[in-house]
Amino acid sequence: MKLHEYQAKELLARYGAPTPRSGGVASTPEEVEAAVEALGGRGVLKAQVHTGGRGKAGGIKVAESPAQARELAQSMLGMLLKTHQSPQGERVLKLLVEEPIQIVQEYYIGIVPDRARQCNVIIASAMGGMDIETVAEEHPEAVVHVAVDPAVGLRDFHARMAVYGAGIPAEHAKAAAAFVKTLYAAYDACDANMAEINPLAVTSDGRLVAADAKMVIDDNALYRHADMEAWKEESEEDPIEAEAHRRGIQYVRLGGDIGVIGNGAGLVMSTLDEVARAGGKAANFLDIGGGARAETVRNSLEVVLLDPNVRGVLFNIFGGITRGDEVAKGILEATSAMDIRVPMVVRLAGTRAAEGRALLEGSPLTPAETMQEAAARVVELAYA
Ligand code: GDP
Ligand code: MN
Repeated sequence: MKLHEYQAKELLARYGAPTPRSGGVASTPEEVEAAVEALGGRGVLKAQVHTGGRGKAGGIKVAESPAQARELAQSMLGMLLKTHQSPQGERVLKLLVEEPIQIVQEYYIGIVPDRARQCNVIIASAMGGMDIETVAEEHPEAVVHVAVDPAVGLRDFHARMAVYGAGIPAEHAKAAAAFVKTLYAAYDACDANMAEINPLAVTSDGRLVAADAKMVIDDNALYRHADMEAWKEESEEDPIEAEAHRRGIQYVRLGGDIGVIGNGAGLVMSTLDEVARAGGKAANFLDIGGGARAETVRNSLEVVLLDPNVRGVLFNIFGGITRGDEVAKGILEATSAMDIRVPMVVRLAGTRAAEGRALLEGSPLTPAETMQEAAARVVELAYA
């Protein structure tokens, strides 16, 4: 689960890492104005989206007064923020409001697992403020890696190696090493598999603060962090995927225009290939699982049709324990109660498939026998 900056900073602060004074996160211009007021009249407004490069894209603005904060918030909230990392853009729904800091120097500190070495690796550089990938490419000598065996944990020498190796000057070395320790503690305790502070900022009054923070929490460890439950929904980037997960449906949006519904992940994957081979672009992956009762079919179809790009739907059902005629009944029952304006092709194979196909005769659904035939047919009908 990707965390937003304000969430990552909340965790960091819990572990004692210095962050800028926060006025909280706000989703209306009024709340932003009040937050800037509470901070003493000035504030930085930062778009809470899952992409870096916000600064250059207009996602970070300094307000000199509460009134100006309100005005800026009006234009920022609801905007589609397009960055070099996210050219399709991300909608800005929340702004983090913080005390403005005067930055005189920017460092970089990150932690990621190295699976091959079974270690965590601290990545540090005195050249913060830009993409670490760019720094690593253009100035590889400016980036240092320090492996930490998780069984041993972080020791002072690891933090010192990271800080001195990065070339962080002596006057900030102590504070930077202390920062590395708190960051590692937060990373470890929160089951993160990525933490990145870029920039770790030196302020004009000589403090070191995390001006930006990115963290990703291991999804498989989320059950251990009940306090992060509320953040789950906000981390869903695609609203249709979020809705599918709310309904307990295995759905992944793929960006094309042919909706795909099948039983079994492997079968759905090969259906995606067949759609591509037939010259179409799949809109999604959806594994309906076993059974395929009318209720499940309706739910799945509703989710697929939430995507406005869908021009045709392909059902690919292999009947094993699930009988083909039962599935056909489920599909008929579900679709007869819905107002569907796109062509639908149903491929049924396996147990009682012929009976199932017979049931579909005379309905608006086009039956098909093989996966190849079904894919070709749906592409033909959708693009007609
Ligand atoms: P990113 O562009 O999405 O990585 O967002 P950051 O939070 O890293 O901000 C980008 C840049 O904006 C930073 O490198 C800083 O130079 C600048 N910035 C961010 N917050 C502040 C702030 O409070 N004061 C000042 N002066 N600059 C800031
Ligand atoms: Mn940043």
